[in-house]
Amino acid sequence: MALILDGRKVARAVRDDVRALAQAYKDRKGRPAGLAIAQVGEAVASDVYTRALLRAAESVGVRASVVTLPEDIDDEGLRAAIETLNADDETQGILMQLPLPPQLSPRTVAEAIDPHKDVDGASLRSAGNLFLRFPSFVPSTCAAVVELLDRYDIPLAGKRVVIVGASNVVGKPLAFLTLSRDATVTICHVYTRDLAAWTRQADILIVAVGKPGLIAAEMACPGAVVVDVGINVQADGNIVGDVDYPAVAQVAGAITPVPGGVGPLTNLMLLKQTLLGRQLWSTE
Ligand code: NAP
Repeated sequence: MALILDGRKVARAVRDDVRALAQAYKDRKGRPAGLAIAQVGEAVASDVYTRALLRAAESVGVRASVVTLPEDIDDEGLRAAIETLNADDETQGILMQLPLPPQLSPRTVAEAIDPHKDVDGASLRSAGNLFLRFPSFVPSTCAAVVELLDRYDIPLAGKRVVIVGASNVVGKPLAFLTLSRDATVTICHVYTRDLAAWTRQADILIVAVGKPGLIAAEMACPGAVVVDVGINVQADGNIVGDVDYPAVAQVAGAITPVPGGVGPLTNLMLLKQTLLGRQLWSTE
C-alpha cells in the first residue's frame, strides 16, 4: 500500500506557521492583514469555497471580507471594482473567485489586479514572474501541491513530473513551478493521445482535470508519487478526485486522498501568500 500524503496533518503544521506570520504582521502594523475575496453575484458556484476561506482566515488571524459584485457587471465595472481594492491600504491581498460569468473577460482580472496584491497568482505580472523564474505569487492550489511534496521530503529536482490538466489556474502554473524546481515536466491535456503512455513515465504524477476515475491503476508507474488535485462531487454528495484511489494506492509509492490531500492546504497557502506579499517581492 502507498504512503498516504495526509493533507490534513500537513495543514495543521502549516496553519501554525501561517498563524505566526499573521501575528507578526499584526505586531508590525498594529492591525491584521486584510484579504478581499471578490465574487460576482450572490449564489455563485464558488460560494462554498468562499465560506471555507473565511473560516481559514479567521483561524489564522487574517481579516477576510467578501466583496460581492453585481451579477450583470461588465468589464469596465469589474476593472473599477478591482482598482478600488488595489487602492485600499487595508487590503493586502485580492482574490477573484472563478468562474466569471460569460460577459466578463478573464483578461480584465489578469490586467487589473495590482501585482503586489495578487495573492492567487492571477495577474499577467505573476504569470510572467513564474515563467521567468522570478519570485512570484502563484495560484494557491499549485503552492499547496509543492508544499505537500516538500513537507514529505519528496524531491522534485531531476524527477519526471507528468501533469494531467493544462488550465491557467492549476496545470500550467504547476508545470512552471515544478520546472523551476528542476523537474523534467510533461503536460497532458484533452488532446493528448495515449494518456497512459505518458502517465506511466511519471515519478510524480499530478492530476488536475475534474473527471472521476480518469487515472486507473495501470496508468501509474509502480512506486510513483500520485497527487490528485481533482474535486468531483458525486450524485450521492460524496467527493472524489480524478484518480481511482483504491486501485492506484495498490501500485503507487505515495498518494493523496480526496478529500484530505491537496484541498486542506490550498486556502492556507493563499493566506500565507497574503502575509508574505511584500517579502516575496523584495527578493525580486
Ligand atoms: P479546467 O479549467 O476544467 O481544466 C481541466 C484540464 O483538464 C484542461 O486543461 C483539459 O484539457 C484537461 N482535460 C480534460 N479532459 C481530459 C482528459 N480526458 N484527459 C486529459 N486531460 C483532460 O479545470 P481546473 O480548474 O484546472 O480544475 C481541475 C480539477 O481540479 C477540478 O476537478 C477542480 O475542481 C480541481 N481543483 C481543485 C483545487 C484544490 O484546491 N484541490 C483547486 C482548483 C481546482 P484542455 O486544456 O485541452 O481543455
